Amino acid sequence: MVRNITLSNGKEVEVECLSCALTSGLIEPDGGVVFESEYFHAHQDVAYPIKGLIIIASKRHVTCLDELTDDEKIDYIKIMSKIRQAQREVLGIEYVYYFYNEDTTHHFHTWMVPRYEWMYEFGRSVESVRPVLLHARNNMNNIENIQYVMEAINSITKKLNE
Ligand SMILES: [Zn+2]
Repeated sequence: MVRNITLSNGKEVEVECLSCALTSGLIEPDGGVVFESEYFHAHQDVAYPIKGLIIIASKRHVTCLDELTDDEKIDYIKIMSKIRQAQREVLGIEYVYYFYNEDTTHHFHTWMVPRYEWMYEFGRSVESVRPVLLHARNNMNNIENIQYVMEAINSITKKLNE
């Protein structure tokens, strides 16, 4: 599926796959790349302004876990643990929810959604995640919170690349 993406400089580009556009550097995510390994790429989707929410995408265009090579599988678990540890050490994140669906219009990517106290009003488990993300997108997109999220992105990027 071809879609039109508006870049931050206002230019519109047509991309087949948003993940390919991001991991190849065609699109620079707001807040930048927090970490890049040989096979994976990590950034925050600031459309959901939750401090420390990180998306890990493979650089190769595959959709299913069993399509990863052995080297990619090892790299995947390593980058995910590395980011998890940074979330804990830098941002004090106690719990994370991990989401990855194979029937995506993008390619292989995993969401690491931190769990904060305020989220419990939306429920305790998996079913609360969509309402949490929508709440963040619709009600937390203010200058103050975005700045807070950007600062978190900077500190986690620094930690991951030291
Ligand atoms: Zn792709």
